[in-house]
Amino acid sequence: MLVLNNLKAFPYKLLRKMTWNQPSVPVRPCSLYTCTYKTRNRAIHPLWQSLEAVPGGDRQSPINIRWRDSVYDPCLKPLKICYDPSTCLHIWNNGYSFLVEFEDSADKSVIRGGPLENNYRLKQFHFHWGAINDWGSEHTVDSKCYPAELHLVHWNAVKYKSFEDAAMEENGLAVIGVFLKLGVHHKELQKLVDALPAIKHKDTLIEFGTFDPACLMPTCPDYWTYSGSLTTPPLSESVTWIIKKQPVEVDHNQLEAFRMLLFTSVGEKEKRMVDNFRPLQPLMNRTVRSSFHHDHILNLQKGRKQQTHHITP
Ligand SMILES: [Zn+2]
Repeated sequence: MLVLNNLKAFPYKLLRKMTWNQPSVPVRPCSLYTCTYKTRNRAIHPLWQSLEAVPGGDRQSPINIRWRDSVYDPCLKPLKICYDPSTCLHIWNNGYSFLVEFEDSADKSVIRGGPLENNYRLKQFHFHWGAINDWGSEHTVDSKCYPAELHLVHWNAVKYKSFEDAAMEENGLAVIGVFLKLGVHHKELQKLVDALPAIKHKDTLIEFGTFDPACLMPTCPDYWTYSGSLTTPPLSESVTWIIKKQPVEVDHNQLEAFRMLLFTSVGEKEKRMVDNFRPLQPLMNRTVRSSFHHDHILNLQKGRKQQTHHITP
């Protein structure tokens, strides 16, 4: 997940605190699952080169969500999303993804409810995607990768003065994750896709006018939630993750448009912006809660019984 809009502007001392005060030898290796190992030999993106070691925290993200191990929590409320489309500012290529940023000086575009105790303000959203459709999402569900994942990043303006403060602290951020799967054309996403050629190179930015990111949400209200971290440096463990169960469908051409973007600036040797996701991290001692009953397990069992019935006269 990209949270810090400009890493160069981020307080250097804080970066040191969050990354280099950790043991110089990783406490544990990154865990690489089925879909991410395929890209492990790719060159390290500059974003990661300054890290001496993977921090040894115990609530890192992303994770593989194991459906049957998640725990239904009847106390989890529905997530309320209230975005003001006029707070949308611009879209830009920061060299790792493209970000759509929002005006966040007041509670105009907020989420509340769900696992959250406060209102959280929308700061930006962005995506992660793969070189091909077989992988690209940061989180996985029962080890299934999706070709892309949307992250809507919000910060706790009740507890903290700025997004940068919130990004480093407990209960500072709330990020909604939405999986993108290959399917029908997504009409609302196309407005973003049409803007991408103008921000092909790193550090290019264009105004984006009004846009309501709620149009990118699936209709089903169900979600998983767990405590985790940013998925880019400084990897701080400040995030309440809210992962929507239902993916949204996009078509192949829309994913291909993401892959036409570049990691590189004008004049540099072109490098396609693909595989901009972090490998899976261990769950450690955490519980993933769900806002919904695990009826798919029941359905599976029911299906199995029916099948048995059919084949056993
Ligand atoms: Zn992200």
